[in-house]
Amino acid sequence: MSAPAPRAPWIERIAASQTVRSGYASLVWHVVALIVLALLVVPREIERKPRPIRILFAPPADEPGHDGGDAAVDLFDVALEPGLEAPIPEPAAVTVEPLISTPDEPAAPELVAAHDPAVPPLPAATLTRPASLSMTKAPAGAAFASRHGSARGDASRERGGSAASEAAVEAGLAWLAAHQGEDGSWRCDLTNCRCGGACRDAGTVGSTTAATGLALLPFLGAGHTHLEGDHREVVNRGLYYLLSRLRSTPRGGDLTEGSMYCQGVATLALAEALGMTRDDMLERPVAAAVRFIVSAQDAYGGGWRYLPGQAGDTTSTAWQLAALKSAALAGVEVPSPTIDGVRRFLDRVQARAGESYGYQGPLDEPSTSAIGLFCRLHTGWDQMDTVRRGLATLAQPGPDPQAIYMNFYLAQALLQSDHPAWPRWNRRNRDQLVAAQARAGHEQGSWFFADPETASGGRLAHTALAVLSLEVYYRLLPVYRPDAVEREW
Ligand SMILES: [Zn+2]
Repeated sequence: MSAPAPRAPWIERIAASQTVRSGYASLVWHVVALIVLALLVVPREIERKPRPIRILFAPPADEPGHDGGDAAVDLFDVALEPGLEAPIPEPAAVTVEPLISTPDEPAAPELVAAHDPAVPPLPAATLTRPASLSMTKAPAGAAFASRHGSARGDASRERGGSAASEAAVEAGLAWLAAHQGEDGSWRCDLTNCRCGGACRDAGTVGSTTAATGLALLPFLGAGHTHLEGDHREVVNRGLYYLLSRLRSTPRGGDLTEGSMYCQGVATLALAEALGMTRDDMLERPVAAAVRFIVSAQDAYGGGWRYLPGQAGDTTSTAWQLAALKSAALAGVEVPSPTIDGVRRFLDRVQARAGESYGYQGPLDEPSTSAIGLFCRLHTGWDQMDTVRRGLATLAQPGPDPQAIYMNFYLAQALLQSDHPAWPRWNRRNRDQLVAAQARAGHEQGSWFFADPETASGGRLAHTALAVLSLEVYYRLLPVYRPDAVEREW
């Protein structure tokens, strides 16, 4: 009697069973089917949400642990606040007093966007202009003087502009004006634009405060305010739209629409308008928006990111800093500890002893380095030689024709620091920009760059940044003025 064959291990017996085999095959097929279904269904679920705002600029620096990455940075790398993932509701229309009226043109009620009814608006007094305040009341702020009249042409000639760059600015402003919504806003997504989607390259950024602030800045940069200039009605409606989106909170005036990037851009536009006009209609809103920025700073690291209190990144921090600097020069108080915090943040993300900057940590990356050096100039750093060395490194290869966001900052930093590389770098950058402008058809006057970092901002954001870049000679945002740079906070 032979010994019984050793029993196969239990797992083999189970696997050999016909029943199990068929069950296993069935299981495999079900899993495959589920995966296929998930692939079909999940993207639709995702598409229903607004895409994260990632204007310009970078790899999904989606934390945690993102240390700056090895590529470019995003400008509006915006994660929507969880509670705000639903599309931002369209504000209801409300009638308010128009900002501008002339004797020939009786003041007709004007429709502008209203507050989200769920959020208490700022007091009406901040949104309407008493009739007694005339257009001549406020002289333009001295810090913006070169934006106006003959000073603009003089500054353009002295600092490297050209007749062609000035013509490009005008064409760009005309395109932007033609793409303003009827409610005074701008949208990066041009598919529902009043041009009927005639423009290609719609962006995906959903924030209306970011898009509107970004589109307003080029008008202000060329001396157009709600009180002055050929585009004053455009600026008027844009400012009113921003004011209508300002939500009063215990922490200040909230323009975030889910992200601090939007807060920074929109506050910068309002602060510039205040600085240029000294219009007291804007004083309280700007002060409120500044208070929100101040309270949203990361108390430990000193920067800003998507949401109030988050550990900062270089791009969001730069927008808040620009807004604070403009507001300060417009007469709004900015606490000095806030600026000390920015310096602390820059110390944390610098590399090469301050010649380079990363996104959220020390890194030698060109885009964030340009932004970091720009921030150093505006926080009054005493190591100007370090700044100049960093700028020289960035300028050495010449301006990349597609790197609109990096060039936007680099141009300002080179000009402000009176860098020896500026004349040569500027000629190339200026002429590249002029050559890249759309010259025919509906898109005439606009720009779109093959820049994956900035694609989410679309043609609207690219056009705004290109115009701003060509206004660098006279725009002289207070934050960008040499004298402003040296001024203590
Ligand atoms: Zn269009």
